[in-house]
Amino acid sequence: MYISKSFIPILKNNPSEAKIKSHQLMLRVGMIKQSSAGIYSWLPLGFKVMKKIEQIVREEQNKIGAQEILMPTIQPSDIWKESGRYDDYGDEMLRIKDRQGREMLYGPTNEELVTDIFRSSVKSYKSLPQLIYHIQWKFRDEVRPRFGIMRGREFYMKDAYSFDVSDDDAIYSYNKFFLSYLRTFKRLKLTAIPMAADTGPIGGNLSHEFIILAGTGESKIFADERIFKVNSDDTKIEKNSLEELRKKFEKFYAVTDEKFNKKEFEDKVTEENRLSTKGIEVGHIFYFGDKYSKSMGASVDLPGGKKDFVKMGSYGIGVSRLVGAIIEAKYDDQNETMNWPISVAPYDISIIPMISKNDKSALEKANNINKELIKNNIEAIIDDTDENFSSKIKKMNLIGAPFQIIIGKQTGDGLVEFKRPGDESLEIKLVDVIKIIK
Ligand code: ATP
Ligand code: MG
Ligand code: MG
Ligand code: MG
Repeated sequence: MYISKSFIPILKNNPSEAKIKSHQLMLRVGMIKQSSAGIYSWLPLGFKVMKKIEQIVREEQNKIGAQEILMPTIQPSDIWKESGRYDDYGDEMLRIKDRQGREMLYGPTNEELVTDIFRSSVKSYKSLPQLIYHIQWKFRDEVRPRFGIMRGREFYMKDAYSFDVSDDDAIYSYNKFFLSYLRTFKRLKLTAIPMAADTGPIGGNLSHEFIILAGTGESKIFADERIFKVNSDDTKIEKNSLEELRKKFEKFYAVTDEKFNKKEFEDKVTEENRLSTKGIEVGHIFYFGDKYSKSMGASVDLPGGKKDFVKMGSYGIGVSRLVGAIIEAKYDDQNETMNWPISVAPYDISIIPMISKNDKSALEKANNINKELIKNNIEAIIDDTDENFSSKIKKMNLIGAPFQIIIGKQTGDGLVEFKRPGDESLEIKLVDVIKIIK
């Protein structure tokens, strides 16, 4: 992709209306454009990053055996009346009437809709467990939409639902998601810590929020610092192994403010390990038993002929919020560099040829390098403008491809000038560049 042909409307300076880094930068680099309060259009650069995050989330859901569906954004109100949440949900729910006067709503979450799908087709314990997810826009009429897409009103969420025959099986499903979340955030190069959380309007008794530390986060957390060292690499998708993993985390005090108890914190955590700070909630998992299956009549036949309500859990990841969360965690202030992990970077590499009005040979070289990269499935962005070197570098640092090739000064035979944003450059062969990126 040539910069001159791309739709990346970069601003010279940080927009003053934005209060936090990720919001400023997403506007500045033209990743999003506000349409109304808390509602955004996603421009190519932002959309590419979000889609890559979405794909990683999807792959990790599939790995634990969850199946993808797609439910609509607009839901009928009657199922919410059945569960009893139509009134409870309050002003965060956007209520709409269609031309027949039927009450509809823009889904803020999908427990009711998925339970309705489940009850209409699954009748026997033999079909369980079922792990179902979708990745879809949600709407919540937040009192204070702010920080750009971090607290939007319309936002993109992965939400999954588990259906099991017993509490014991349901906890197994819960633990599968627990692991898949750790793996997902790890692939995004984030350290997200599972913290005991309140279940709020979803109801139920077991719940963890996955939080990444950030001064600009809106969640208050209290933790034993040693929880950051817990490792999940050897965990298998198997009942005991998963249970052990959760125990390893739960050994350390780690809670959000709703669950915080000063005395407990001070009793359980020695002073040097106490961490009380702020974080961003990027995921949240709940176990709530038969809260919805009972009120909505979702039961299955058990062996022996009896019937019972299925045991359910729900599992959310804020896919659009993660775009901002990664910027908050990774942005390098000193070099004004996005520092996207390669797994979600909008481009793998930027090529920066030094072009003047009468000498276009560097651009030709760039095109040849790009052909090689394309053969190797590496996506490059090429600055084909005749701006000066330092403004080209600045722009590419902001766009944030994790590698750069500079074509200007004389290099050794068959070598290219290669660097990571903010680092010194080195001269290496193109095949080695490809090896580093892959
Ligand atoms: P918050 O505490 O930030 O309001 P929540 O607890 O209401 O979030 P959940 O119902 O647990 O959110 O939804 C699952 C995930 O969806 C959250 O962990 C978060 O990552 C994301 N999310 C929730 N609300 C928003 C929002 N307004 N904008 C962007 N992402 C959101
Ligand atoms: Mg909320
Ligand atoms: Mg919350
Ligand atoms: Mg939550």
